[in-house]
Amino acid sequence: MQNLLDLDADGLAAWFAGEGEKPFRARQVLRWIHRAGVADFAAMTDIAKSLRDKLKTRAVVYPPPVIADQGSADGTRKFLIDVGNGNAVETVFIPEDDRGTLCVSTQAGCALECAFCATGQQGFNRNLTVAEIIGQLWQANQALGVRHGDERAISNVVLMGMGEPLANFDNVVAALRLMLDDNAYGLSRRRVTVSTSGLVPAIDRLRDECPVALAVSLHAPNDLLRNQLVPINQKYPLSELMAACQRYLDKAPRDFVTFEYVMLAGINDSDAHARELLALVKRVPCKFNLIPFNPFPGSPFRRSSGERLRRFADTLIEAGIVTTTRKTRGGDIDAACGQLAGQVRDRRRRIAGRTILFTEASYG
Ligand code: SAH
Ligand code: SF4
Repeated sequence: MQNLLDLDADGLAAWFAGEGEKPFRARQVLRWIHRAGVADFAAMTDIAKSLRDKLKTRAVVYPPPVIADQGSADGTRKFLIDVGNGNAVETVFIPEDDRGTLCVSTQAGCALECAFCATGQQGFNRNLTVAEIIGQLWQANQALGVRHGDERAISNVVLMGMGEPLANFDNVVAALRLMLDDNAYGLSRRRVTVSTSGLVPAIDRLRDECPVALAVSLHAPNDLLRNQLVPINQKYPLSELMAACQRYLDKAPRDFVTFEYVMLAGINDSDAHARELLALVKRVPCKFNLIPFNPFPGSPFRRSSGERLRRFADTLIEAGIVTTTRKTRGGDIDAACGQLAGQVRDRRRRIAGRTILFTEASYG
């Protein structure tokens, strides 16, 4: 049985061709599945009964089931999505006045072990399939419906949930193509954002194969500190990362990269750090998004004070860089950045203690 949610438009056309069916049939089915949100072939009324009956014996539309649906006081909604074998991932909907953003997961856990991230601390199980990635959008659309007129509640998607999107490249790109496809979700490239901790070769591939808005998790202005906070930096240091960002902008749908920067008290939030950042990014057209650290059980870090955050932001703004501070949303339901944990059965053998890089004493 083929799960049709696993196929993007080209994949679906190829599958239909293999079944001896015409490409326009594939397009019709794509629209039923993703635009109308229909999983039952019997309900696809403009498709010949004979084809519907055949599809029933050869394929399914099987989205990963929602096992919990929690609402926050601020309107944020968090879905827990079952991906089998005791693993579950989280998807978060964040409504704002002018848009509705869905934050989607790409892996069960994450192998990259950033020191300040609940997902990273939890370990890694596996990459999500295309059906599991696009299925989060499919399920959230069902749950949220339309806002006004026929406008969908979800206008933007960010791949900022659990996992490193570019470490699951092929499945992520197929899911992105569905998000962009007019016969599926029809989102503009500017409204779909991939966030990466900095996998340099994959940033280049994304630029060539499916350029969308890019956010890079920077979190430190020099290699010494970034090596500790974001260990993948040991493989792809800042000079290479900055060069990849510049290359990306040649084809990007937006003319800037967003740098995400989690504000950790006493670790990366001084005026000197801000000045060092300015020197680092001077050749990269960029915006900054400062993220107040969201604590999780066992995390050794503290959030920078509001005053420190403002001063840090002012240093960047005075140098002409558009800088925003991410509002913490959904904190009461553990749906804020870095708090997503779902359920992950870690399959790696981990080196005891390696993930704890900072102790209380290092705050100074
Ligand atoms: N793996 C990707 C995307 C998922 S994380 C990446 O690292 O970019 C989405 C954002 O939340 C990243 O910028 C990440 O660094 C940040 N983040 C992780 N843990 C956090 C925490 N505890 N508090 C605030 N932001 C956090
Ligand atoms: Fe993985 Fe991103 Fe968390 Fe780092 S911040 S551990 S890359 S999910």
